[in-house]
Amino acid sequence: MDFKKFVTVVENFPKDGIRFKDITTLMENGEAYKKAIDEMVNYAKERNVDVIVGPEARGFVVGCPISYAMGVGFVPVRKAGKLPREVIGVDYGLEYGKDSLNIHKDSIKPGQKVLITDDLLATGGTIEATIKMVEKLGGEVVGIAFLIELSYLSGREKLVDYDVFSLMTY
Ligand code: IMP
Repeated sequence: MDFKKFVTVVENFPKDGIRFKDITTLMENGEAYKKAIDEMVNYAKERNVDVIVGPEARGFVVGCPISYAMGVGFVPVRKAGKLPREVIGVDYGLEYGKDSLNIHKDSIKPGQKVLITDDLLATGGTIEATIKMVEKLGGEVVGIAFLIELSYLSGREKLVDYDVFSLMTY
């Protein structure tokens, strides 16, 4: 399937000069969304995944259906102040801005094999921060899966030590 056909490229969003890849049009198409998730499930099944971790909010859109299809748990990574129990956190730089991310301290057990998911790899800051937290909790990152990789932002350079899958590359 030509998945790119279902992604809308929006010029100058959220600011001038950025060509935003809008996946909501892919999600709105039941067949395209299902097939995209199926491809990611196939990737995950080759890796003995114990648990899936995804950053809010679009990491949930990708990670939760994979988690459901595989019958493994899903652990949310959220912006500071959103998770109700004890957390660990890291600061990170975004393609457009700065923020900090949190994960529940007891969400990953030492030695668990973790698949990290998100909709899109841009500079890699979000995923680098997510990896740091997973590893701090003793998880082993066995794979990282994206719908979209923006190769011109070189996020993959931050992930050279990991196995990375992306369904579409721009
Ligand atoms: P990074 O941390 O620079 O790799 O940015 C990735 C994060 O920013 C992901 O969580 C994306 O949801 C979001 N993001 C950055 N650029 C885009 C885009 O063009 N479309 C959709 N999301 C984007």
